[in-house]
Amino acid sequence: MTTTEQQSVLFDKVCIIGIGLIGSSLARALKQAQLATYIHAVDQSEAARGDAAALGIADDVTSDVSVAADCDLIIIATPVGVMPDVLATLSGIVKEGAIIMDVGSVKGSVASAGEAMPAHFHVVPAHPIAGTENSGPAAGFAELFQQRWCILTPLNRQNEDYAAAVSKVEKLWRGIGSDVVSMDASHHDLALAVTSHLPHLIAFTLVGAADDVENVNEAEVVKYSAGGFRDFTRIAASDPVMWRDVFLHNKDAVLEVLGRFSEELAVMQRAIRWGDAEALEKAFTRSRGLRQAIIEAGQETAEPNFGRDKK
Ligand code: NAP
Repeated sequence: MTTTEQQSVLFDKVCIIGIGLIGSSLARALKQAQLATYIHAVDQSEAARGDAAALGIADDVTSDVSVAADCDLIIIATPVGVMPDVLATLSGIVKEGAIIMDVGSVKGSVASAGEAMPAHFHVVPAHPIAGTENSGPAAGFAELFQQRWCILTPLNRQNEDYAAAVSKVEKLWRGIGSDVVSMDASHHDLALAVTSHLPHLIAFTLVGAADDVENVNEAEVVKYSAGGFRDFTRIAASDPVMWRDVFLHNKDAVLEVLGRFSEELAVMQRAIRWGDAEALEKAFTRSRGLRQAIIEAGQETAEPNFGRDKK
């Protein structure tokens, strides 16, 4: 089903806590697909509340989380680090049977906090594999989740009510154009350490290292940045608080993947040192194949320069 087709309302009242890039994109997408009747936006940041109100993203905007009391769906779209605290606060507020869904980039810590909640709160952890390097309500847009994967990591709860809540959350993501897959939280965290967390760590490190090379000045780094560096700077411009929390909360998986990366890097270092052309070419050919598979899966554009405006 496309988001332009008429759909029935899935949730009457929705509360989105954290109305930044992801929260505001969800608010827009839910409205556009007519999946929610009324949306409360809650944010601790005065600036974010002001922007969200000015942009008309939600039906009301407040700093008061108690508006979640009569909601059928509460979406937690704050940084990962505060999610367990937000969940604990919600446990004293939300009505029985309400669905609480987070959108955090790491799932293990939220899943543990969710398991500790009474069974009549249906906590359904989700992670949309969609985003940009920008933050805040003005950066969001309704189409962000279209043709992107959303990973659900349901809790270990074997009852019909919980299964119905998971199915409703799945309908929500499909209704705003995402493909949905479910997996174990620990598997999610390992997979995302490979596909997202390590690449971000490399980008942050590389951009920092370029800044430290004394004989190449900043003007040269900027001027010649098209040589690969620019694409790393885009990733390295991502929100510092969000990424701080990702690494603090996915420590084990990131360290595991980082260990393997260091070994691969040592292999490349050796191949360069010993002039092993065959090893280098073999490694680069393998990488090229993987990129082609990503393009064929519709997760990237094949256009030169990543389809960016060439001005
Ligand atoms: P964002 O644009 O920075 O927005 C987060 C908002 O939540 C900020 O306005 C922040 O206010 C507010 N907030 C923080 N703590 C709060 C609290 N206790 N109560 C109410 N509001 C609070 O962040 P984002 O990029 O949308 O990311 C949100 C979540 O989505 C994160 O968990 C992230 O891991 C996940 N995610 C992000 C992406 C991505 O590409 N960005 C993709 C998928 C999933 P302050 O500015 O005052 O802290």
